[in-house]
Amino acid sequence: MSEHFDVIIIGTGAGGGTLLHQLAPSGKKILVLERGPFLAREKDNWSYQGSFKYYSSEVMYNKEGKEIRPGFSYQVGGNTKVYGAALFRLREGDFEKFRHHDGTSPEWPIKYRDWEPYYGRAEQLYQVHGKAGEDPTEPWRSSEYPFPPISHEPRIKEVFETLKTRGLKPYPAPMGVRLNEAAMHLSPCIRCDTCDGYPCLVGAKSDADVLAVRPVMNRANVTLLTNAKVLRLQTSASGREVRGVVVDFNGEEQVFSSDLVVVSCGAVNSAALLLRSANDQHPRGLGNNSSGLVGRNLMKHVLGSLIAVSTLKCNPSKFQKTMAINDFYWGEPGYEFPMGNIQLMGKTVIDGLRGHEEKYAPLTIEEVAKNSIDWWLTTEDLPDPQNQVRVEDAERIIIDYTENNSEPFDRLVERWKGILKELGGGDPIVPQVNDFAPKSGYFTTKMPMHSLGHQVGTCKFGEDPQTSVLDLNCRVHDVDNLYVVDGSFFVSSGAVNPTLTIIANAIRVGDHLLQLMAGGAAMQDEEVGSAENGLNRFPRLLTSSAANHEPSFAK
Ligand SMILES: Cc1cc2nc3c(=O)[nH]c(=O)nc-3n(C[C@H](O)[C@H](O)[C@H](O)COP(=O)(O)OP(=O)(O)OC[C@H]3O[C@@H](n4cnc5c(N)ncnc54)[C@H](O)[C@@H]3O)c2cc1C
Ligand code: SF4
Repeated sequence: MSEHFDVIIIGTGAGGGTLLHQLAPSGKKILVLERGPFLAREKDNWSYQGSFKYYSSEVMYNKEGKEIRPGFSYQVGGNTKVYGAALFRLREGDFEKFRHHDGTSPEWPIKYRDWEPYYGRAEQLYQVHGKAGEDPTEPWRSSEYPFPPISHEPRIKEVFETLKTRGLKPYPAPMGVRLNEAAMHLSPCIRCDTCDGYPCLVGAKSDADVLAVRPVMNRANVTLLTNAKVLRLQTSASGREVRGVVVDFNGEEQVFSSDLVVVSCGAVNSAALLLRSANDQHPRGLGNNSSGLVGRNLMKHVLGSLIAVSTLKCNPSKFQKTMAINDFYWGEPGYEFPMGNIQLMGKTVIDGLRGHEEKYAPLTIEEVAKNSIDWWLTTEDLPDPQNQVRVEDAERIIIDYTENNSEPFDRLVERWKGILKELGGGDPIVPQVNDFAPKSGYFTTKMPMHSLGHQVGTCKFGEDPQTSVLDLNCRVHDVDNLYVVDGSFFVSSGAVNPTLTIIANAIRVGDHLLQLMAGGAAMQDEEVGSAENGLNRFPRLLTSSAANHEPSFAK
């Protein structure tokens, strides 16, 4: 294909898929390059064992050189095909400098008030269900959730109410599943027990494939190539412009060109692509001359699960991911440091417990599967330039990451465990008649280093090319026509799941690119570029509107 395109988008996950949706109506010629296929609709979508095949077995390496398998989901829609679809806004304070146990979470260059309208648009596009006004840490909003909260199943409702009577403030988790509870016969979502971590067999999850890519993929101006893995980017002689996108397309190397190139491969793979694209003008990796930060500041949250079991009460819930708790998000009396978010996760199934019988003894795995209530806990990890994605020998991806902020995570786990124990697994509410002595257990699993589902931060954005990789429009400071719109731009990770922020940012960057392609009329920024690359129409910097505002959060 020797055609020249207006835009090439690499990757179709939360960032790339959303950006495509935003740009497609412009009529500009867009080429989308996705390394994976469309995810097949088949029974394995909803089978515990069968669903493993939707995660890549690709090998990366830890800093000791040992093999790790992060298990990314390479499909149209990226990791949103298998995600849990909890679509949270970051808190207002997450955009401000904040002291944590292990250091400082830095300030973002643009603040919540700048993000707010994009969050609203993101929630519309991804059809988020939720309820405002119940979570004390919730940021202000100018629009209601587009859909009502997902109802709790009876056992979860009991726990929700009990937590409230204990003075806690549980609230309905903001969810992207297309459930119509008022008319279930019309509902795309059937409310099943294989959602979090599985693809949706009936296409009802709010993923980037179904809601962003498919609605626009048949437009005449959009060309989507699947099984097209981008290997590297080539630049002009000056190094200021990407001239060629080198692709392994069904086993054959091809080069495509466009005016604008948008990388959205996920924070790890986007950094790896830029690093692999090193050349004489960019010896440390593409876009890495000014800051040296490409691949650095990798964040992925401190994460873990807590499976709470009491045989006093069974939990027959199918879709239990309907509750979140932020009472400890910013800490608690006597502990001044942020601790993080608690939310329900997909219900534990017995197939996932097989082989782990010892861990749960004296409870049997049948008892665990029948009675468990399953929680997911998240603590913010702090950006550290030493935590990085590196590429060795042009191929091997090294994830050099040392966890920080573990102490507040451990405290959050213990605190939550204590509260659940106090509730006795919920038995104060309507205990069941039971001839046997009840058994209970609280089982924590901390996610290992290679659990990179919440990967962000490897090309942080900012105003200063010395201290950030991307400018405020997510354009690479050092390359005039190159953008990155996945989770790489994050400055800090907050302690809620990252995807709604990635979607909101892709919409924000999409607005900018639409203006730019329409002639840049709305841009009044410094213009740079060279005669050689003919790119002097591309503005270098969009000044933060935040600069005009006072900080909107009192620390
Ligand atoms: C099991 C699981 C559960 C999760 N649950 C939640 C949740 O409940 N809420 C939440 O907010 N987040 C959740 N996440 C995280 C969420 O999936 C990610 O935040 C989100 O998908 C990241 O979007 P992205 O655009 O940065 O990258 P991705 O969605 O990963 O997209 C990257 C895309 O680039 C493609 N690609 C990569 N390399 C190349 C290449 N070289 N050439 C061409 N294409 C390439 C990939 O195939 C993919 O399509 C979960 C993740 C996992 C794994
Ligand atoms: S709960 Fe709904 S969205 Fe999730 S996999 Fe089941 S049908 Fe699909």
